[in-house]
Order: sequence, then C-alpha cells, then structure tokens
Amino acid sequence: MPGFEIFGEEERRQVQDVLDTGVLFRYGFDAARRGHWKALDFEKELAQRLGVAHCHLCASGTAALNIALATCGIGAGDEVIVPPFTFVATFEAVLAAGAVPVFAEIDETLGLDPELLASALTPRTKAVMVVHMCGAMARIDEIATFCKNKGLMLIEDTCQSVGATFRGKALGTFGHIGCFSFDPVKTITCGEGGAVVTDDDRRYELAHAYADHGHDHIGNDRGAETHPIIGYNYRISELNAAVGLAQLRKLDAILAAQRSNKAALKAAMAKFPQISFRRLPDPEGDSATFLTFMLPDEKSARQTARDLNAGGADGCFYYYDNNWHYLRNWHHLKEMKTVAPLPAHLNPHCPDYGRIALPRSDALIARTIAMQIKLGWRQTDLDKRITTIQNVLSR
Ligand SMILES: *Cc1c(COP(=O)(O)O)cnc(C)c1O
Repeated sequence: MPGFEIFGEEERRQVQDVLDTGVLFRYGFDAARRGHWKALDFEKELAQRLGVAHCHLCASGTAALNIALATCGIGAGDEVIVPPFTFVATFEAVLAAGAVPVFAEIDETLGLDPELLASALTPRTKAVMVVHMCGAMARIDEIATFCKNKGLMLIEDTCQSVGATFRGKALGTFGHIGCFSFDPVKTITCGEGGAVVTDDDRRYELAHAYADHGHDHIGNDRGAETHPIIGYNYRISELNAAVGLAQLRKLDAILAAQRSNKAALKAAMAKFPQISFRRLPDPEGDSATFLTFMLPDEKSARQTARDLNAGGADGCFYYYDNNWHYLRNWHHLKEMKTVAPLPAHLNPHCPDYGRIALPRSDALIARTIAMQIKLGWRQTDLDKRITTIQNVLSR
C-alpha cells in the first residue's frame, strides 16, 4: 500500500529541482523557478490520468474535504450523510464546515449502502459524502443515481483509493467533486498533501481560490490579484508536490505490484470455507491496497486477526477495536470534545453521537479484517505469509 516503500532517485531528483531554485512556493517567482512548477505538473498529470477536467493540489486530504464541502456550498446547519467506517477526517471536515454529519449504514462493499440512504434523509440533507475505503469502490453508480434523484451534492472521499476505477471510470470522478490524500501512508505520498478533482469549471475556480485566501490566481503579479471570495491557506509546498510528482509517475507500477501480491494471498485464503471477501462491485477496478475479508462472527474475527499478526502476517487490521476508522471507538465525537464551543446552530441539530445505532455496520465491521498489501514483498515473503494464513485458518 504505502508509496514510501519505494522512494528512490526519482523523488530525490524532483526535490533537488526545487531546492536548486530555492522557490518553495507554488505560485509566482516565475523567473527564479526556472520552469519548475511541481504542483502544477502534478495537477495536470493527475487530472489527465483520472480523466477529469480539473485538479487542485492542496495541503492534505482533510484540506481537500474542507475545500470540497465549501465549494459544494455546504454550510451552517446543512446535513451531510457520511459512513461510520472511514477516517475521523470525514466527520471533522463536516463539523468544521458548520454542518451536521449524519451517519448511515454501510454494506459489504464497506461503503455507504445505497438502499439505506433514504432513511438518513431529512429536509436539511444537502450532500452525501461517500468514502471508498481500503482501495476499492462503494456502489458508486447507485449512490450517484440516488443523489441525482434527490437533488443532493455528491462528494467522493477517495483518499484511500487513488488509481481505483469503477467500470473503467476513475473513483473520485462520479460526484460533484472528489478528494484524495497523499499523506505519509497513502498509496502515493507527498509527505503531506491532498487534491480535489472536478469537471465543473466554476467549482474549480472556487477551489483554488478558497485554498489560497481567495486569490484569483490571474496573471503573474501576485500583488495585483483580487479576492473574489474569503478563503484559507490550504496550500501545498513545491517540496511536497515534487515528492508527489515522482510518486504519481510510479502509480501504475504500484498498482501492478499490489494486484499481483493480493491475488496470490486471496487465492490461498479462498480455500477456507469460513472466509468471505469484501464485495467488489467491479473487481477489475480494485487498487488492491488491502485484502479485506470477513469471518463468521466477532469472536473468530478478533482471534484470527490476533493470530495472523502474531504468526508473522503483520498488517492485519481489526477495525472494530481500532479508534481511527470506526464510529464505535470515536469517543471524542461521542462526547463532543471540541476545543472551542460548537457554532450555536449546530447544537439543536447535531444528534447525540453517543447513541447512534448502526446495527448492520456494527455486525459487519465486527467480522472484518483488512490485510495491508505491501509493495516490497518478494516471493519468499508471500510464501511465508501464505503458510501463516494456512496455519491460522486451519486451526
Ligand atoms: C487519510 C484519509 C483522510 C485524510 O487525509 P489526510 O491527508 O491525512 O488529511 C480522509 N479520509 C480518508 C478515508 C482517509 O483515509
């Protein structure tokens, strides 16, 4: 999964270009930068690869979510339907927008269940934020249809699934705006970084302006730029963009390695009748960062994860007990431990997150284990891992 496994000469060369010019800023300094525009190059190449009109590179995946929500017009008191299996950034971004995260059930894709979205709707629902977890797709076509029929904005959190597709179309390009993360442990990394992508010209103009104090970025005299809107600073530095550019150019090789490693492990595991796999609406489009599988019940899943990790197949995550990715252990949210008081308008609307009942999601995540797929595994590593899997699962 993580691009940091394969840092090499390419990353060093890109960073050296930036250091040689001394221009760490992504805008301006046209003469001094001697033709090096790392953020711009990254944006062009990612947009082209994803088949989308616009990309804006920013400071993090979380910044991308903030930009996405703002440019979709999500604000005070609006409700955004989100899944309970994601990363904490999802609900943080919604709250930061002044909006209310409303949790809905997930299905065996580990993403929002399109058939249960309707039960989370209220007159205040403005958007759905779908999260493509662990390298692969939610039922994005059905979710997009639901949003269209209900007149809702659709935001895709594709932070964990760069390079994944659904029927040949890149994840992140199905909704009004898609978000990516290039943080230190993602498929490709900038060190820290993120991006938003959209086909909508106006939304893109808002996105790059919002991410840089509202600057319009017209012309090359920064002092002469106007501020069509109020924004923030969600900029990325050229150093980070340079690392990301080298990584982006390795994405195909990364996906190929992941897919081949995953296929070998999945074949070994498929022989065991107690194992079922995460549902993949389009297996061809899986980026294969994880092999995600289910045991028959919570007890056996917890024990199996423990045994796999202890037996040498490390990187097996049991999300039901972890406090990053599943609602059950988000105690800070359940107790609303904010640094400063929430905006007053949120208080009457925010549900008591300590009392949210999502029995289907609980039952599913309680049985689920995700095994991280590494790039650097050699055949001997795979063989050892397969032996561990066979030992643990035949107990
Ligand atoms: C990593 C991640 C984020 C946040 O990205 P950062 O770059 O770490 O801010 C958001 N959503 C999901 C699903 C993630 O995995």
